[in-house]
Amino acid sequence: MEPDVIASGTGHAASAGRREELRLNLADVRDRIAAAAGAAGRPVGELTLVAVSKTWPAADVVILDALGVTHFAENRDQEARPKVVDVTKSLFDAEVSLVWPPGRADAGRVGRQDAEASPVSVPCWHFVGRLQRNKAASVARWADWVQSVDRAPVVTALARAAAVNGRQLAVCLQVSLDPAGSGTGRGGALPADIPALGDLVAGSGGLVLAGVMGVAPRDAPARPAFARLREVSDVLRQGHPDASAISAGMSGDLEDAVAEGATHLRIGTALFGQRRGVP
Ligand SMILES: *Cc1c(COP(=O)(O)O)cnc(C)c1O
Repeated sequence: MEPDVIASGTGHAASAGRREELRLNLADVRDRIAAAAGAAGRPVGELTLVAVSKTWPAADVVILDALGVTHFAENRDQEARPKVVDVTKSLFDAEVSLVWPPGRADAGRVGRQDAEASPVSVPCWHFVGRLQRNKAASVARWADWVQSVDRAPVVTALARAAAVNGRQLAVCLQVSLDPAGSGTGRGGALPADIPALGDLVAGSGGLVLAGVMGVAPRDAPARPAFARLREVSDVLRQGHPDASAISAGMSGDLEDAVAEGATHLRIGTALFGQRRGVP
């Protein structure tokens, strides 16, 4: 078997195997999401699967796109930029590569036109990593959503970059879900700072306040953390009723997130497999 595979072209054989692996993983994840929605008495249509493709190649994104996944997330700008270019090229042909760089606004338009006549869908890209102010301009070119906004200077930088690129970015405010007093180990603003940050985003041209995002603490149960995130969301929505997104839940805790009202589930390992090296 092994020699035959090599003789007939490893690339093709490998990609067929990978397609099957991703298809099975996706079916499992969709089953888990449907079961969690059922248990929580929520319609499954309220839940958006965001495939966290960090460390995985553009080819995997193209496969999942063909399987109906439309949301993808990355946590490093320098990894994401070339991947978004490659995915866009694969899905919509060479045309779009010509408008890259400087901005992806044009690539998006070309993609959307083509998409009407083609079976593939335009991926929606989310940034979920630590965001430094000096990376905002670059992230604003390829990301449609920025989920990890946790301080005012980043809001200002993103708004400026969105304006320069003629784009609209959906913004989630990342809330620290670490137990009180333990700092913000996994990133995010303190809950008390969220309403003012929300006002700042909502008042910034080029940014749309979408909601909140949280990562469960490493050494504590996820469900109470997601319950706190839901409370922060409730407070935010008193001033911004449309900011209804709650991005919570990863491969290990998506059921807890769905039980506590999550709308966006960020799933990496359960879809793609175990990452090597990078967290
Ligand atoms: C990597 C990552 C995920 C996905 O985690 P898995 O456990 O692999 O599903 C979700 N959210 C963020 C912010 C991440 O960095």
